Amino acid sequence: MEAGAAKVKAVKRATLARFGGGVLDLIYPPTCLDCGAPTARHAALCPRCFAKLRPITAPYCPVLGLPFEVSLGPDARSAEAIADPPPFERARSAVIYNEVARAVVGRLKYGDRPELAGFCARLMAAAGSDLWAEARVLVPVPLHFWRLVGRRYNQSTELARALSRLTGHAVDPTLVSRTRRTRQQVGLSADARQRNVAGAFTAHPDILRRLNGRGVVLVDDVITTGSTVKAITRTLKRAGVDKIDVISFARVVTGGESPI
Ligand SMILES: [Zn+2]
Repeated sequence: MEAGAAKVKAVKRATLARFGGGVLDLIYPPTCLDCGAPTARHAALCPRCFAKLRPITAPYCPVLGLPFEVSLGPDARSAEAIADPPPFERARSAVIYNEVARAVVGRLKYGDRPELAGFCARLMAAAGSDLWAEARVLVPVPLHFWRLVGRRYNQSTELARALSRLTGHAVDPTLVSRTRRTRQQVGLSADARQRNVAGAFTAHPDILRRLNGRGVVLVDDVITTGSTVKAITRTLKRAGVDKIDVISFARVVTGGESPI
C-alpha cells in the first residue's frame, strides 16, 4: 500500500520535473530527506539532520578508510587492515553508518528520490579525493539480474553515474555481473557473508580491453564487513585487473552506531 503510494508519488514527481524546478517546488516544496522539515532545495537534509551525519575525515586508515580517534602518523594502518589485508588497494567512505545515513540509504534503495544519488555522490567525491588523480572506471556493485528486475533500480549504479558526472571518470555497469544469486547479506555473520558471496561474480570477458589500462573504483552504498567488495576484487584480479579501489557512501564502523 505504502510502496504503491510512493511509486505514484515518484512518477508524479518525475512528470512534474519535466516542467521545471519552479512548478515542482510549488507542488512538492523541498523537504528534508530524513525528517521532512522544509529545506531550501530538493535532495538535501535540513541543517539539524545534516549535522547528525558523521563524515569520515582524516585521520583514517589509508587502506580501509576507517576513522582513527587520534592521528598515528601518515602510514599507520588500522588493526583490521593489518590482521586481514584486503585484496583491494584502498577503500574510502563518505560517512559513518548511523541513523541518518540509514535513512538516506533506505530512500536511495527505494528509488523514489532519484536525485538523492547526487547528494550522496557529492560527499563521496570529496571522501575519495585521493582516488581521482588517475583515469579510473567506476564500476557499481551489481545486483543479480532477477533482483534488478524486481527492484528495477540498482542504487550503486545511480551512485556511480552521479559520481561520474562530478569526477569526470567513466562508469561501466557491465564490467562485473552477479552470476550467482545470493542471500541478502543483512543479518549474516562475517564468515557467512564471505561464504555467501564467494564465486558469485563474473568479470566481463573483454574487461582488460575495455579498461584500456585504467584502474577500477568499485562503488557501493554501504560497506559492512567488506565481503562483497572483496569478492568482486578477487574476481577482477583473476581477470587480470591490478588496480582496484573502493568507494561507498556509508561505512559500518565496529563499535560505532547502528550496525545493520
Ligand atoms: Zn531533517
